[in-house]
Amino acid sequence: MNFPSKLVENAVTQLSSLPGIGKKSALRLVLHMLNQEKQNINQFGNSFIDLINNINYCSECYSISDQEICEICSDHKRDRSTICVVEDIRVMMAVENTLQFKGIYHVLGGLISPMDGIGPSDIKVEELVQKVQNGEVKEIIFALSTTMEGDTTNFYLFRRLKDINIKISSIARGIAIGDELEYTDEITLGTAISSRLPYENSLSK
Ligand SMILES: [Zn+2]
Repeated sequence: MNFPSKLVENAVTQLSSLPGIGKKSALRLVLHMLNQEKQNINQFGNSFIDLINNINYCSECYSISDQEICEICSDHKRDRSTICVVEDIRVMMAVENTLQFKGIYHVLGGLISPMDGIGPSDIKVEELVQKVQNGEVKEIIFALSTTMEGDTTNFYLFRRLKDINIKISSIARGIAIGDELEYTDEITLGTAISSRLPYENSLSK
C-alpha cells in the first residue's frame, strides 16, 4: 500500500498491528479519525497512554485493577475459600456477570500452549499453588475454555494440586468443545458453574 503521507502510514501501521485489523480497515479508521474534533482524538490517544502508564494488577488475584487489591478481593462478603481459576479478565467478567459465583478468582494471564512456547512458568501457576498451600482454600474451580490449551492447563494444574487436601472441580461441560468461555451466554455459564463436577470425573480412566 502506497501512502501519500508518512503520518498516515505510521498511524495505519500502528493500528493494523492490532489483532483482526488489516491495513484497509486501519486506513478507514485513520481517515475517520481525521474527520473528528482534534480534542476527541487527543482524548482517544491519551486514554491509551494513561492505560499503559497507570495499569495495575491486583496483587492477590492478578486481575486488572485500579487499586493495589481489586474490589472483589477486598470484598469481605466474598467466600475466600473458593477460588475460580480463569484464563483472563474477560472470562472473569463473564463469570461475574452470571451472579452465580460468590468466591474469589485467580487470573492465570494465559493458558499453557507448547505450540506457542507458553509454559507453566509464563502464567500465574506457581502463585496459585502457593495460595492453595497457604491453607485458606477449600475448593478450586477450573473455568478454562474447552480448547486443547484449556485442557492442557487444567490437567497440569490438577497434577500440581491433587496432593493438597482440597476439592478440585471443573465447570460442567454443557459448553461445546472448543468454546471460548467469554462468548458463552450468562445462563449457560452460570449453570455450568453451579453444577460443577469433581475434575477427576473428566479424566478418562
Ligand atoms: Zn483481586
